[in-house]
Amino acid sequence: MATSIESFSSIREIAIMQLKAFKEAGGKVVGRYCAYTPTELILAAGAVPVGLCGTSEKPIPAAEEVLPRNLCPLVKSSYGFAATDTCPFFHFSDFILGETTCDGKKKMFEIMQDIKPVHVMQLPYAGLKHALEMWSEELRRLRRYLEEQFEVKINDDDIWQAIDLVNRESAALKAVCDLNQADPPLMSGKELLSVSWSRSFSTDVEEVIRMLEELSASLAASPSSKQTGLPRILLTGCPVGTGTEKVVVLAEDLGANVVAMELCSGYKTLSLQTDTSYDDPITALADKYLQIPCSCMSPNQGRLELIQQMIKDFQVDAVIDLTWQACHTYNIEAYKVGQLVRNLELPYLQLETDYSQADVESLKVRIEALLEII
Ligand code: SF4
Ligand code: SF4
Repeated sequence: MATSIESFSSIREIAIMQLKAFKEAGGKVVGRYCAYTPTELILAAGAVPVGLCGTSEKPIPAAEEVLPRNLCPLVKSSYGFAATDTCPFFHFSDFILGETTCDGKKKMFEIMQDIKPVHVMQLPYAGLKHALEMWSEELRRLRRYLEEQFEVKINDDDIWQAIDLVNRESAALKAVCDLNQADPPLMSGKELLSVSWSRSFSTDVEEVIRMLEELSASLAASPSSKQTGLPRILLTGCPVGTGTEKVVVLAEDLGANVVAMELCSGYKTLSLQTDTSYDDPITALADKYLQIPCSCMSPNQGRLELIQQMIKDFQVDAVIDLTWQACHTYNIEAYKVGQLVRNLELPYLQLETDYSQADVESLKVRIEALLEII
């Protein structure tokens, strides 16, 4: 049967069963949260990298027994899943790979160590002259850690193979997302999110590439089922996943099409390919990861350039900038994003919210007002 958008929604359930069998057979699993995680090194060690969810409101009360309430819901949800042992992916992970990105996450990792080993990579600011050297050294430290933990030897060839795999996966997902440059788009925002979010749970990258390529071909071969003439929205800001898609749902229920998402859970990293002309795979990887335009970087000009490019490529009519409460980096960066979008004479709306449904009515009013001025 051809791969459909719906096929992606079962990836998570299938992955849980596969992981259980893999662990019982002695397989190694590494949990990760962030786009800066060099999955290539995990794959090169013969282990399975799994995306950990922090997109549910449910475990937040348990997290608040330890963490401050005034903290990003993503950090609280991630910790809450760990503390309550309710995320099978966390449960199966041999260790967690974290990075010193935002303050909330890096300090949370210190506390998470009491539940499971966490290896934290020290991320330098990309603007530093010696950032490439520093980050390469951190990747080498991770390589040694993986070798010691899993009693394996990671050769350069293993890393190059994993680089090829991850490059192909990014290209395949980008090709799917780029289909929405068409007018009318080929996928709704909810469908787009389901594809890009669900695939991060897969235990088999080659299978994900096959599914993405098949989906691209089948979507491109048939006419769009979406309505033409609806306002085309670019969503930017904090990561969104299944369970935290309320802004996408509201915008589409109110008659818009969320055609693209400049989020690390979406399009933010998809143009980045590891440069295979380097002699050393570690330097090649360090170079790629330092180019991620996340707001935890200072300065972060790359995000503004990416947003401008996406506005053009996806024929965007308005931009919604989503900030999770207490995410200072995205919240502050909203000033520059707003300036950029207004200079392009497009409507811009920043929404600061959490995972609850408490503010749905007020969000609705603000999104409605945005759509009216398009
Ligand atoms: S927003 Fe930045 S720090 Fe947060 S998960 Fe994404 S890449 Fe990592
Ligand atoms: S949304 Fe912001 S505060 Fe939350 S984990 Fe990501 S960067 Fe940190």
